[in-house]
Amino acid sequence: MIVVLRLGHRPSRDKRVTTHVALTARAFGAAEVWVSTKDVELEKTVNSVVSRFGGEFAIRTGIRWRDAIRSWKGKTVHLTMYGQRVDEVMRSLTPSSDLLLVVGAEKVPRDVFDLADWNVSVGNQPHSEIAALAVFMDRLTGGGSLYAETGGRIKVVPNPRGKTVIDSEKGQDG
Ligand code: SAM
Repeated sequence: MIVVLRLGHRPSRDKRVTTHVALTARAFGAAEVWVSTKDVELEKTVNSVVSRFGGEFAIRTGIRWRDAIRSWKGKTVHLTMYGQRVDEVMRSLTPSSDLLLVVGAEKVPRDVFDLADWNVSVGNQPHSEIAALAVFMDRLTGGGSLYAETGGRIKVVPNPRGKTVIDSEKGQDG
């Protein structure tokens, strides 16, 4: 089971990025996203996607992140541009490992680096928590979740030219 822990979310500034962290976590195979700040609007946005597109994905906000990391029974990976190379750490992990994946927003508190089992970089250049999460999860799962059947009301059918969407309440559109 993979859980993504998002630190430092500021509801007024980070709504879009944190929503995308959550949707990326879901699309690439995480079971849950935990957000350190309480944000009911964010919960509604993510739950709305889950209710339309399916799957068991859960969002929890207002998480006491130090307690969450300390009480996590599996391994913890903190994604940071300062960490060791992703390929080195990947050898120690399997897709079935229980993994808490920690991503930041602005500056991440120093003790996260000590609490994590691994501090892992996706390259040593600064970029984005969404990109880091996507690349890390894709390498971990070998892309295995990208086309998984989620059983949702809305289903997108791959189409080389346009959009084919099946809404089980309305029929096919596209
Ligand atoms: N200098 C900041 C720091 O303390 O790492 C960068 C913050 S960045 C806007 C937000 C988050 O993106 C970081 O906390 C980290 O989780 C992720 N991130 C950015 N670049 C990364 C990289 N090259 N490798 C892994 N994670 C990265």
